[in-house]
Amino acid sequence: LKTKTTVGESPLHSPILIIPYCAGCDRDWEPDPHRRLGQRFLCPSEVTHVAALVKGDVGKLWLRIEARILSYEFLSLRLSGRKMPIALAIRVLVLGLALALCPWGAWERAIASLLGVAVIADTMLIATSVAFFSRFPAHPLRSILNALISAALTATAFGVLYASSVDGFTRGTAPMTLPRVDAVYFSFVTIATLGYGDIHPSAESLLPKLLIISELLVGLYLLATILAIHASWVSALPSITEPPTYSALFPERHEAVPSTADGGTRDRSTTPS
Ligand SMILES: [Zn+2]
Repeated sequence: LKTKTTVGESPLHSPILIIPYCAGCDRDWEPDPHRRLGQRFLCPSEVTHVAALVKGDVGKLWLRIEARILSYEFLSLRLSGRKMPIALAIRVLVLGLALALCPWGAWERAIASLLGVAVIADTMLIATSVAFFSRFPAHPLRSILNALISAALTATAFGVLYASSVDGFTRGTAPMTLPRVDAVYFSFVTIATLGYGDIHPSAESLLPKLLIISELLVGLYLLATILAIHASWVSALPSITEPPTYSALFPERHEAVPSTADGGTRDRSTTPS
């Protein structure tokens, strides 16, 4: 966190303002004098809105993106919670269809590739939502299981892309199109960064190399989300804690609350000191 403060200058007088902002209403309020950057609060208009104290217009933009990702439910089709197995079955069916289409022809390969990319994008968005936004899942074990299944689905989806790469690979020197089983096997070896080297991209083809680089990045990201879920699980008990309401966060901005305290030194976190 880069906040430049010179000696003797209170951070309260720093030019960067911390603004209460709701991404759902696209509304902001007066800057927070206590500068509680990142603090969530419930939007006064609608509790499901994503609202937090952010830093400037860039902070607002990131919060709007976060709200989009949180509300993302493309292949999940609003099937969260108990209906997770149905959402999983849909993904498996889509991948199965894609794998079935691979060896047919150019059009079929193009459709298969699109389905594969859709599953990869879907999986990454879900993983992001679970790992970084709903940090303390009610069922951590289920979340970790979901993350592992996501990794397997992603590897299979990349396998579809490899199987759709005509003459993209080789076992020696002659370019060949990977059979589906070999393509999925190659994908799992790649995402695990094992790299046996029995199959490798052919020398003159660019697309398979780009796909492999993408898969390594996606694989690293999924690994990070699994670790994030695991870390939040062991560091805190799952709990349903709602963020404070706007008026609880800024009591001085509404009718005067009868108070004997010196004014707003309530503890902000559960961090033991
Ligand atoms: Zn709102």
